[in-house]
Amino acid sequence: MLGVDLLWIDLPSMTAATPLLNYINGTWCASAADCLPVINPATLDPLGQVPLSTAAEVDAAVQAGQAAFPGWRRIPPTDRVRYLFHLRQLLEQDREAIAHIITQECGKTLAESRGELQRAIENVEVACGIPMLMQGYNSEDIARGIDETMIRQPLGVTAIIAPFNFPGMIPFWFLPYAIACGNTCVIKPSEKVPLTMQRIMGLIHQLDLPPGVVNLVHGAKDAVDALLDHPLVRAISFVGSSPVARYVYSRAAAAGKRAQCQGGAKNPVIVLPDADMDMTTRIMADSAFGCAGQRCLAASIAITVGPAKDHFTEAIASVAESRKVGYGLDEGVQMGTVISAQSKMRIEALIQQGADEGAKILIDGRRPQIPGYEQGHFIRPTILQDLDPAGDLARTEIFGPVLGLIHLDTIEEAIALINRGQYGNMACLFTSSGAAARQFRYEAEAGNIGINIGVAAPMAFFPFSGWKDSFFGDLHGQGQHAVEFFTQTKVVIERWPQEWSRRF
Ligand code: NAD
Repeated sequence: MLGVDLLWIDLPSMTAATPLLNYINGTWCASAADCLPVINPATLDPLGQVPLSTAAEVDAAVQAGQAAFPGWRRIPPTDRVRYLFHLRQLLEQDREAIAHIITQECGKTLAESRGELQRAIENVEVACGIPMLMQGYNSEDIARGIDETMIRQPLGVTAIIAPFNFPGMIPFWFLPYAIACGNTCVIKPSEKVPLTMQRIMGLIHQLDLPPGVVNLVHGAKDAVDALLDHPLVRAISFVGSSPVARYVYSRAAAAGKRAQCQGGAKNPVIVLPDADMDMTTRIMADSAFGCAGQRCLAASIAITVGPAKDHFTEAIASVAESRKVGYGLDEGVQMGTVISAQSKMRIEALIQQGADEGAKILIDGRRPQIPGYEQGHFIRPTILQDLDPAGDLARTEIFGPVLGLIHLDTIEEAIALINRGQYGNMACLFTSSGAAARQFRYEAEAGNIGINIGVAAPMAFFPFSGWKDSFFGDLHGQGQHAVEFFTQTKVVIERWPQEWSRRF
């Protein structure tokens, strides 16, 4: 097992008791701010101290980005992506160490940590196509002797504000595209899981980028507000809960910035009677209980239609009960912890709320005893049967390993229930009917759709497409959307009369 000593790639003198450093203008900088402890949620071991950086420290990072911008945007895209080729190689080489850090600070299993890093690397790979991806287009002869061209240019300083649940992946929905397009960047990781990006900044430091192109500032609300209000920050990429996403979007827009803010979710999945039940159960268990349910694409409600009810209920209950829960670094563990004691309390209270609203707690994962980790923030998989579709819990994001079961008679009723929901991050259908699949794909109001898929996570070359209260903005993270978000279009209309050239 790798230990916490591996956290420090460039900082061998640091320990879990010393504050993490910001990375500004190519240099590690101590923050003057107060710190919060970073705790391993399974063992409760202290891992580090995260500074809650001040507006002045955020300003220093933004100023560094602004100073670096004119030089960086002049480096040809073909040369800018060479830094990304190198970053990809360093991420590959360091993958195991980073995965261990993710598991230690975030609580998920090592396989899940490796999986999220794979997604991060894929985004670096896609952004390596920037020389083509950021091409414009042109029309010759829009009028006699006049040509018109659209070119894409970078914006300037951009900012990334990340949530706790994918500390190694989510910054990469934005970072590689932002810098490949010629922008500079300030990253603010979640204060709950700051060590992963600290480690990755150590890799970025090895790239020898011009100072100020990528900066890291630790912190929480004050640091976020400083980014939102800073006149030199041109674009905000945010991922987190819906209330904060809405707030960030409004405040960024009020300050004249472009913003893409991905929010929370309550993901429904319909199971039709003609679905392959073994496959459906296996995939649904991974969706609902993988990452301890702390995924914005976790299945949260299973809507069984007609005779699917009995078979699916029995099968999912048995899989939930047998899932091996424990410390993510231990062999054979299938599900780790939730992020904090506060989160565990909130989830347990919501399970009780489901029961109070009339559901039966078919499998109760509250207060489990995990040998060797009795103090850890564990909840076992939980199933609430006959959840009231009109109740509050059917609309509330739980963000824990809790699956609610609702039974309806027709696919039309199920789709109508989905479309009444406030969120639109993901909706899935399990069936063997092409016609039902098409109807669902056409009518379901969600931005990421799965057909016989439990976690409909778009690949790096597709946009991560939340809808409704799961997204505030228009251009999403990843792929071509990210390229459009991180560039502004300029249209050039040119006339070069022939007679001018005859002067020479
Ligand atoms: P969060 O909203 O608490 O925090 C996200 C970020 O915002 C953090 O960096 C945090 O420091 C900052 N922040 C928190 N409160 C703030 C405030 N009042 N003002 C300004 N900044 C603030 O989210 P979280 O608990 O870290 O992450 C879990 C949430 O993220 C879930 O709701 C989940 O569904 C969502 N999520 C969404 C997606 C997606 O793609 N839609 C992906 C991952 C996670």
